[in-house]
Parts: sequence; C-alpha cells; structure tokens
Amino acid sequence: MSLFSAVEMAPRDPILGLNEQFGADTNPAKVNLGVGVYYDDNGKLPLLKCVIEAERQMFEAPKARGYLPIDGIAAYDKAVQGLVFGADSAVVTGGRVATVQAIGGTGGLKIGADFLKKVNPNATVLISDPSWENHRALFTNAGFTVGTYPYYDAENKGINFAGMIDALRAADAGTVLVLHACCHNPTGYDITDAQWDEVVAVIKERNLVAFLDMAYQGFGEGIAEDGAVIQKFVAAGLDFFVSTSFSKSFSLYGERVGGLSVVCASKEECARVLSQLKITIRTNYSNPPTHGAQVVATVLNTPALRAMWEEELAGMRVRIKQMRVLLVDKLTAAGVKGDLSFITRQKGMFSYSGLNKDQMVRLRGEFGVYGVDSGRICVAALNTKNIDYVADAIVKVM
Ligand code: PMP
Repeated sequence: MSLFSAVEMAPRDPILGLNEQFGADTNPAKVNLGVGVYYDDNGKLPLLKCVIEAERQMFEAPKARGYLPIDGIAAYDKAVQGLVFGADSAVVTGGRVATVQAIGGTGGLKIGADFLKKVNPNATVLISDPSWENHRALFTNAGFTVGTYPYYDAENKGINFAGMIDALRAADAGTVLVLHACCHNPTGYDITDAQWDEVVAVIKERNLVAFLDMAYQGFGEGIAEDGAVIQKFVAAGLDFFVSTSFSKSFSLYGERVGGLSVVCASKEECARVLSQLKITIRTNYSNPPTHGAQVVATVLNTPALRAMWEEELAGMRVRIKQMRVLLVDKLTAAGVKGDLSFITRQKGMFSYSGLNKDQMVRLRGEFGVYGVDSGRICVAALNTKNIDYVADAIVKVM
C-alpha cells in the first residue's frame, strides 16, 4: 500500500483533451475551433507590436528582479483601475477600490473567492448556465456550494432573461453572483444595457454580491463600451468584485497577467480589504511575477504604446466580427435556411453555433473540424483560408 494507492484519476480537461485529439488527427485540412485563443488571419497566435516595443524598452534599461510587493506593481494596479473604472472615477480617486495584480484572470477569481469565503463562509455562489467551465470548479474548490442561474435559451438562440432575473430575485441575501462583464463564454450572448440595469437593481434590492469576470474587455464593442457595465454597479453604490485578464487583449496567455479589484464603501474599509487580499496572496504564492505585468503597465502608461495597443485590439475585434459576417454569408450562400443573425449578434471570441453533440462529433470525425460538444466554436480561430472549408463542413452535418 503506497501513500497514493487510493488516489483517483481526475477527469481530463475536456478542452485540452480536444486539443490532444486535434494534434493526433492526420487530416491535412483539420481546423481547431475548440480553443479559447485568438489567432490572426494566418492562423497564428499574434505577438502584439506594442508588446514587442515595451519589451524592447525594458531590455534596453534592464532592471534587477527583486520581489514585487504582495499586491504587485503599483503602476500596473493603477493602470488596471484606469481601464476598469476610469482613472478619474470617484471610487478610484476616493481610494475605495482595492486592486491587486493576479496570476491571470483565473488568479483574480481565486483571490476573490478565497477572500469571500472568509467574509461570508455560508454564501452560495451562482454562475450562469452554462458558464466558463472553470467557474464552478474554482468556487467549489474555494469551499462554496455552486449553483446556476438560467442563461442560455437554446430554442430562441439568445438569453432566458426572465429566468435569469427570477433566479436572482429568489436568491438569498449574500449570494455571490458571478457575471460575465462582456463577451459571455461560452455562448457569445450578452444581456442588453437595459437588462444590466435590471440586474443591478435586483442585486441591490436582494443584497447580492456581484463578481464580474472581465476576461474580454475590448473584444465586444470597444474598451470603454465593454467597460461601461462597471459604471452601473458603481452608480448603484454597490460593493463588488471585478477580475481582469489580459491574456486575450494583450495576447499574453502564458505570461499570466490579470488582476482583482474590490470596490468598497469607504477608503478605510478598502484598506482593511486590501490587507486581507494580501494575506490570501502571501499564503498562496507570496507575491506575483514581474515580466508580464511590467509589459502591460509600460504599454498602458505610455501614450504612444497605449494608442498602438488600442489599434491592435481593435484589429482583433474587427477581424472576429468580419468572420461572423463571412460565416453567415457562406452558410446562407450554401442554402442554409432560417435566421442566422444570432451569429453576428453574439459577441467576443465564441459562438454557440446551435449544432448538437452528434453534429459536433461528425464535424470532428468526418471533416477534422474541432469544436466543443456543446456546439461552442471559437470564431477567433476562423480565417479567410479555412472559413470555406468550415462552412462547407457545417452545411454537410446540418
Ligand atoms: N474567465 C473567463 C470567462 C475566461 O474565458 C477565461 C479564459 N479562458 C478566464 C476567466 C481566465 O483567464 P486567464 O487565462 O487570464 O486566467
């Protein structure tokens, strides 16, 4: 009997499993739409020019790598606040936002989850049905019971907003509500401006705790446009959480650059909250890494680089939108009947295609087109070279 003889094999990550299957597929025309990554029109992971330029500047003025403060690079945290809340926002200037550097957006969620567990250990967490698959696992691992609120409406290819709002109204005070700030993963459907107002009103009325996951700021309608939802929570005077990820918006997946911001009622409360966030970080990994956050801080705090980034991010956003339009055109030209406007209505990298599991399995097996069994495809992995093939394959399995 060894120490680990009773350890069970954990289930494989379904998306990583799909990637392995894709790698082993010998079909030369194969296309991987299972990933959650933006590729350019040549099917390559982009290295942004603003990142290259920031790294060049850092290389030319090399600095020794001491430990960072527990909450990260101060100029980085400030830049995150500027992006999420607006640098001149009263909550920021009034010292009411505690922001810490985190190891990707996932790290921001985890620091927030661990802190929440201390603040309100008996709270339930509600995530959207469906949601990014790690939301459930992450909050469960932090010790919470995780339930769902209705979200996707398969029949109407949209959102079951009445179901969502009813679930929020029925939630106990203190329930933690995980919301996708924009570009919902996996469906691609975002609630409207007016619906956000309703959600904010119910959160306030029912005393719920909002945790906004902002992993795709700039991929929907624009940096400011996607960030506008945050202002609604600020205006309502709520205390809430925002996790930030720069994995996609800077194409810095492997650098693990993210953050967590907690909006508090007062400056004094904010200092106490920050001290607790630091304990969470200190006891998990002591302090965050330097490189990625320094790159992002340099870009965001240098006007010329910032302008370059905004343009490059706009380029990614526009290309995704073009792929949506092109996909609808190709499917329509191939004779697919029915309303396909849901594809262009969706936002961000993903599309719930409406295809069922059998169709997704056929796409893989017969055509080497890899998407998730739920019907989720990554529109950001489509390009002008593979879209004809993909559209043709979709038509054949329909
Ligand atoms: N939240 C959502 C909704 C995501 O889609 C992702 C990334 N797939 C994350 C959080 C995590 O981002 P990161 O890779 O920066 O940890």
